[in-house]
Amino acid sequence: MRLGGNAKYLAEAATDEAVADSVKWAKEHQLPYRMIGDGSNIVWRDQGFPGLIIVNRIPGRQLLSQDEHSATLQLGGGEQWDAAVEWSVGQGLSGLEFLSLIPGTVGAAPVQNVGAYGGELSSVLKEVGVYDTKNDCFESIPAEECGFSYRNSRFKSVDQGRFMITHIVVKLSKNNPGPPFYEALQKYFDEHQVKEFSPAVIRQAVIAIRSAKLPNPREVANNGSFFTNPFVTPEHFEELKLQYPDIKGWPSKDGRVKLAAGWLVEQAGFRGVHDAATGMATWDKQALVLVNERARSTNDLLEFRQKIIFKVDELFGVTLEQEPELLP
Ligand code: NAP
Repeated sequence: MRLGGNAKYLAEAATDEAVADSVKWAKEHQLPYRMIGDGSNIVWRDQGFPGLIIVNRIPGRQLLSQDEHSATLQLGGGEQWDAAVEWSVGQGLSGLEFLSLIPGTVGAAPVQNVGAYGGELSSVLKEVGVYDTKNDCFESIPAEECGFSYRNSRFKSVDQGRFMITHIVVKLSKNNPGPPFYEALQKYFDEHQVKEFSPAVIRQAVIAIRSAKLPNPREVANNGSFFTNPFVTPEHFEELKLQYPDIKGWPSKDGRVKLAAGWLVEQAGFRGVHDAATGMATWDKQALVLVNERARSTNDLLEFRQKIIFKVDELFGVTLEQEPELLP
């Protein structure tokens, strides 16, 4: 968002040892510390961070093993996520292609169990290599112990800040992906008369859809989706449907119904809005993306956020939650 204060100290860690050394240094100096990737999904408060920020720069793309049907890869936590996806797709491997063009680093991906177009990291992730700052040791956490759920994990909830993710291990398939596809993807395939599917074809479609709809964070200051999709009870959904027949909802495993946050924000009148008071805006092609046009501070952003939350709550009785992490 290009807002917020400075960090007091910053270290770039390109090896596992550098991560351990940085944590040791912060502990010795009794400073708070945090690891970040690219920072593309973080909102920094105006007062800044009073300790050490450790930027994950650990490289690595390695084929660990393979058989007739699958290949297991290890990816360094500091790798650019999309470059790693491109590399896996280039080898004809399936599993990450739906997650093309997501900003950020490999190490950040398990934190919120990134997902898009029906794909989810947890469905191919085998283990996460970490430095455990509680016990000061390196360890490998199997996927089953990562507490993955919809856009969430133990790294974002109960163990927030404890583990520094040094690498991930994924098991990808040598088989081609097939239908059914997410609505947006299927629409693209219909329009372009695509009938044969491979990881490269899916990647190309996801890139085309995302590029047409979402601003590039390197050019336009934004955090991607600013609110998570809310879940409501089936009764609440039925009530909303009476009033808003166009509303879309998808049943989730726990019995609740997932709503599209972007649709709610748009219906609340916030698509392509340029807010003079705060200098913030919503993207005209996707209302879920908040954009910093000329905000002076993170407070401006938070004020604009509250306007949206208030209006959506008033109309739908749903309280939107912010998706990017607010630090410190
Ligand atoms: P979209 O295609 O306009 O769809 C709107 C919403 O409808 C999405 O949030 C999606 O839920 C839901 N949806 C569509 N088809 C669905 C189906 N068949 N079953 C269940 N849910 C369905 O979405 P968008 O906002 O442009 O985003 C495109 C994709 O990128 C989405 O999957 C979105 O989650 C993903 N994305 C992820 C992140 C992140 O991980 N932080 C950030 C930005 C975008 P889901 O969101 O659950 O897929």
